[in-house]
Amino acid sequence: MRTIRRLTLLANLGFCLLPTTAALAAELAADAAIEAKIRASKPQIAQIVNNISAARIDASIRKLVSFQTRHTMSDTVSDTSGIGAARRWIKAELERCGAGKLEVSFDSYVEPAGRRLSRPTEIVNVVATLKGAQAPERMYVVSGHYDSRASDVMDATSFAPGANDDASGTAAVMEMACVMAQHKFDATLVFMTVAAEEQGLYGATHWAQQAREKNWNVAGMFTNDIIGSSRDEHGVLDNKQVRLFAEGIPALKEMPEALRTLVSTGGESDSISRQLARHVKETGERYVPDFSVSIVHRRDRYLRGGDHIPFLERGYAALRFTEPNEDFKHQHQDIRIEKGVQMGDLPEFVDPDYVAKVTRVNAAALASLALAPAAPAKVQVKTAQLENDTQLVWEANQEADLAGYRIVWRDTTSPLWQGSQFVGKVKEFKVMGKSKDNYFFGVQAVDMDGNVSVASYPLPLR
Ligand SMILES: [Zn+2]
Repeated sequence: MRTIRRLTLLANLGFCLLPTTAALAAELAADAAIEAKIRASKPQIAQIVNNISAARIDASIRKLVSFQTRHTMSDTVSDTSGIGAARRWIKAELERCGAGKLEVSFDSYVEPAGRRLSRPTEIVNVVATLKGAQAPERMYVVSGHYDSRASDVMDATSFAPGANDDASGTAAVMEMACVMAQHKFDATLVFMTVAAEEQGLYGATHWAQQAREKNWNVAGMFTNDIIGSSRDEHGVLDNKQVRLFAEGIPALKEMPEALRTLVSTGGESDSISRQLARHVKETGERYVPDFSVSIVHRRDRYLRGGDHIPFLERGYAALRFTEPNEDFKHQHQDIRIEKGVQMGDLPEFVDPDYVAKVTRVNAAALASLALAPAAPAKVQVKTAQLENDTQLVWEANQEADLAGYRIVWRDTTSPLWQGSQFVGKVKEFKVMGKSKDNYFFGVQAVDMDGNVSVASYPLPLR
């Protein structure tokens, strides 16, 4: 095993150098070179981040607001107002900016009347797909919801600008689609603006359900919902962070065996969504300086939900981006002045520079995920004997440009990875002097350019 050879090397250093040590030293130097590549900024990702435009995002938000209402039961015939005009505009924009690159389509079905729908209603998502060049079956989904609402969730005619909730997320997704369509990725990117979030997450649920039924490999999903305001309810500026909601263990009535094993090994913060959140934080903060991704270890805020939930409920890794300080005077409110205070979700309360920063975090994370290999499969930690080293094994990845694997670790009380080691193209590795009892480990796959996958948590192997 490679680690044993390395130990031989270490034992020999400074003493009698055996002939083989030169080769081993070269191998270690190559490993160090990959580790440096992993840590370096990737020019393609930096370029994508640079090309995200606050001015275009602002224009998209204002255009969406101009449709008066995008309520799911609003007019679908007019070319200037209502949800039909809004979605036709979104589709046309994506077709224009992504010509020859993006596959843009409506994904629709009819939802029967229910608690939040007074009549059967066609629910229409606008989906733009950028097919991956190497592993098109592996996909990453980013969404915002383009429907809006007034105070009464059934009111389909009042002015409901929804500038922040959620023209901000919709504009972010459109901007990413247009910028990223000019680049090539290994995996597929799905840019989705969905309807009927406010009526019960119907649009996102419809797409997630199809994905589950067809067993699509959705390797990660982010929803952007209310990412527009950089001021809290007292007017204090806070434009240096975004919240990222990441679920640990879902609150299921019956716990499946895989989750039970996760919990039994202390891995409640190593769910696939939390692994994805670590990746987003690391990548986002690398490419968007002076900005932090504040991970919240929760599915969502109290009393609220979002379009990541239907994905979580179907076993996919999914996260929610939301501004740090919501101002509830500007959400789900009729436009009015109350006691001298402007109520309602108007564009003047949205900060396009802030939306652009959140969009850049999304884009950096998506690009990095779609350029990287898949997360290693069947990662396991050998637990058959009592020992103070950690033996990890996994299944080989299939990518042609794979450079190898990287072990990451952290203290059991730390939320983020603290150490890493690139270990080459092997299928097992023994981490010397770090006990599986005292650390959490993960294994990442790395390509020749230093693109690194999300970490996989090792389940016990007896
Ligand atoms: Zn929303």
